[in-house]
This record gives sequence, structure tokens and C-alpha cells, in this order.
Amino acid sequence: LIVVADGVNSSWKKVLLKENKFKPISQSAYRFTIKSQNIPANFVNEDLNLFLDIGKHFVSYKLGKKNLVNFVFCKREKSKVTKSWREKISKEKFFEEFGKSDILESLTENIEHVYKWPIIESEIPKKLTTKNVVFIGDAAHGMLPYLAQGANKALEDSWCLNNILQNRSFNLATQLNRYSKGRLDRLKKLDKASVNNEKIYHLENLFLRQITKLFLRLILKYTPGLIFWRLDWIYKFKG
Ligand SMILES: Cc1cc2nc3c(=O)[nH]c(=O)nc-3n(C[C@H](O)[C@H](O)[C@H](O)COP(=O)(O)OP(=O)(O)OC[C@H]3O[C@@H](n4cnc5c(N)ncnc54)[C@H](O)[C@@H]3O)c2cc1C
Repeated sequence: LIVVADGVNSSWKKVLLKENKFKPISQSAYRFTIKSQNIPANFVNEDLNLFLDIGKHFVSYKLGKKNLVNFVFCKREKSKVTKSWREKISKEKFFEEFGKSDILESLTENIEHVYKWPIIESEIPKKLTTKNVVFIGDAAHGMLPYLAQGANKALEDSWCLNNILQNRSFNLATQLNRYSKGRLDRLKKLDKASVNNEKIYHLENLFLRQITKLFLRLILKYTPGLIFWRLDWIYKFKG
């Protein structure tokens, strides 16, 4: 049994799942970190802060024990993006591309390096296995990160594969086919939800944006549990 887990640019996938294509790059991401003591207090909290804007959004959250706050920015991308995870750009270029706002202005002087990379999406393969080879994580399927489930999906894959392999009443081919069938249904659902979140996060129609903002504010104020209830199918997954 060979388990392929070499990420979204999987070289195994390029050979064994040749018919499975990458989607054109439609989004790009930027990232930098800032020391907690150097940023406005409203960013230093235990929450994940989400800021939505036209065609773009960003999140900020504290990083473990490192006394750093992580900022990740995503936007719809119309131009060409270098296919590298480590492209460093200047903060001036970052602001030129992502745009400036009052809230970002307060961070400017403490930004050192900004990394930019394309968000790579692949189509969902017809099968996650071929002969004695099985794909898990981003090697199986790369999706938009707007559900924050890519790494969790990889963990689910390995959990489910392990469970199925424990059942010795089936031969390997049957076990892998069962894994593939079960996971494909889940991947499709996660992928769809992620694409839908992109549409909400990056709404460009001003009228719809106002309605959505109002709707989210009301829910967060009066029935915050509704948001978590909506996500139960993700977080209460038993495998
Ligand atoms: C902007 C952004 C935000 C995200 N936010 C979240 C989030 O909040 N929550 C979440 O769950 N997910 C998130 N994700 C997605 C998550 O990062 C990925 O889905 C996850 O890392 C996939 O895990 P993986 O193990 O399949 O692949 P990877 O993390 O890519 O790991 C593959 C590993 O294989 C190694 N490798 C490659 N080739 C070889 C080889 N030949 N030999 C040995 N090793 C090799 C690579 O070096 C790498 O370490 C986000 C992604 C992006 C782009």
C-alpha cells in the first residue's frame, strides 16, 4: 500500500491521476506576522478576527505561544501569480495590490516581509485510489481555504483510511474503493461549502453586501449558536 500525501502539487497525482486538472488560479493570498506588542489592541485577542471587503477579506489571529499575530489576506485575482509559496513582496506592493484601509494603516510601520502565493484548486478526482496507491489531503484534492478545512480534511482522510484498513474482512482493493467512495462524497460537500463561502466573503454587489452584513450582525447578536449549528456537519463528523 502506498499512501500519497505530498500536497497540492503532488508529483504522484500528476502521473497517476493525469486526467485530474488544476483549476485556473482565481485567488491569491498574502501573509505577514507582527509582534503583539507592536499592533493595536483590537488585534491582540484570543479570537479569530474576520474582515470582509469587496472581492477580498483578511483574518488575524494570535499564533500559539510566539507572541505574534498572524495576518492572512485573500483576494480575487485577475492577473498572473508566480506559482511559489515563498514570493516575498514589499509592503508598498502589498498595499498597491490589496488596497489600503484605516484598519490596515495602523499596522503599516511594523510590517516587515509580506509573502504572496496563488491559491491552487484542483478538480475532484473520480477516484482517490489506483491499484495499491491511495491519495489523502491536498494531494487528493486542493480546495479554496474559505472553510478553513484543508488541513482538517487531510486529517479526516487519514482517519477514515485507517478505520477502513482495520476491517480485515475485505481485501485491499475493496478497502481502498470504500475509502474513495466515502471520502469523495465528503470532499464534494466541503468543496461546495468552501466555494459558497468565497462568494459571501468576497461579495462585490454593494446592495447584497449591506444585506449580508446586516444579516450577519443580527445573527451574531441574537442567535450566535445558529452559525455553529450550521457547521455541525463539519465539526461533528464521526468518520
Ligand atoms: C491561505 C490559506 C489558509 C488556510 N487556512 C486553513 C485553515 O485555517 N484550516 C485548515 O484546516 N486548512 C487551511 N488551509 C489548507 C491547509 O494548509 C492544507 O489543506 C493542508 O496543509 C494540506 O495538508 P497536506 O498534508 O495534504 O499537504 P501539505 O501541508 O502541503 O503537506 C505535504 C508535505 O509533503 C511534503 N512533500 C512533497 N513532496 C515530497 C516528497 N517527494 N517527499 C517527501 N515529502 C514531500 C511537502 O514538503 C509537505 O511538507 C489553508 C490554506 C491556505 C492556502
